[in-house]
Amino acid sequence: MSTIAFVGLGHMGGPMAANLVKAGYAVRGFDLSADSLDLAGNNGVTTVASIDEAVSGADLVITMLPAGKHVLAVWQELVSVVPPGTLLIDCSTIDMDSARKAHALAEAHGSPALDAPVSGGTGGAAAGTLTFMVGGDAAVFAGAKAVFEAMGKRIIHCGDASAGQAAKICNNMILGISMIAVGEAFVLGERLGLTHQALFDVASVSSGQCWSLTTYCPVPGPVPTSPANREYEPGFAAALMLKDLMLSQAAAKDTGAATPLGAKAAALYQRFADEGFGDKDFSAIITMLRDKAGA
Ligand code: NAD
Repeated sequence: MSTIAFVGLGHMGGPMAANLVKAGYAVRGFDLSADSLDLAGNNGVTTVASIDEAVSGADLVITMLPAGKHVLAVWQELVSVVPPGTLLIDCSTIDMDSARKAHALAEAHGSPALDAPVSGGTGGAAAGTLTFMVGGDAAVFAGAKAVFEAMGKRIIHCGDASAGQAAKICNNMILGISMIAVGEAFVLGERLGLTHQALFDVASVSSGQCWSLTTYCPVPGPVPTSPANREYEPGFAAALMLKDLMLSQAAAKDTGAATPLGAKAAALYQRFADEGFGDKDFSAIITMLRDKAGA
């Protein structure tokens, strides 16, 4: 069984690394945070004090970091310490430009690379049920599939380098827009005297059906597991949704794609975060829509 170096053991990376250990891999983990290292150590990860130490004897390296600048800094260091041929996988959600630069760094070093962002949140990371959307060479993907299967349920090859990142950015733009659409419908329904349950019962089996409604309903009641039932504790924080919407807007600007609803969703989540609610679940945007109807 191979040895995996894992860099970035935060809310997502920590449980992902723990699932690799459960699947029988030897995992050598590094993070800048002592707390994250301690937690990972309790879950069977061999924690080390540097990237250099983490990659020693590793067959492949996984990074799970906050944003593009962190990934590029770490990959720059990785290519100076791993032998050429070592597979590099980035699971972070990052901008397209950084994703392409990361692939270029690996290629110049003679290492295969995959971008493999995830969907499913911290719950999916803990349960090992993440969806991986993967970009890179098909043969490299096939060789790495078992590693993804130890951490996720659905593993999708999206195309060449950075196609996984593109899929993630497009998917989350749909999610941000659809959550606002569902929130607006509930707020309008309230003004019209419609109960939440009645609107849910109709829309969940009609043409308004979508994940934001049926799995993540932004009002308490119809879907007992949704964050609305626990004061909008995340879940998926509004600040992270804003981050992903900003990635979509950067990509739209670069490519000239028209995304007027993506732009509006980004502006609304920006306002929500500016008002101090970035750490609430992203479905809590309904509270701003309700309080400031028409504003
Ligand atoms: P996090 O902030 O909890 O974890 C990131 C970790 O990276 C931190 O522990 C930090 O100390 C570490 N780190 C930063 N720079 C480092 C460096 N140079 N060397 C070593 N470690 C370093 O973030 P997270 O919630 O785990 O998210 C990670 C990525 O996954 C992000 O790109 C995020 O957008 C994406 N994502 C998150 C979720 C979610 O629900 N949290 C869902 C899907 C995707």
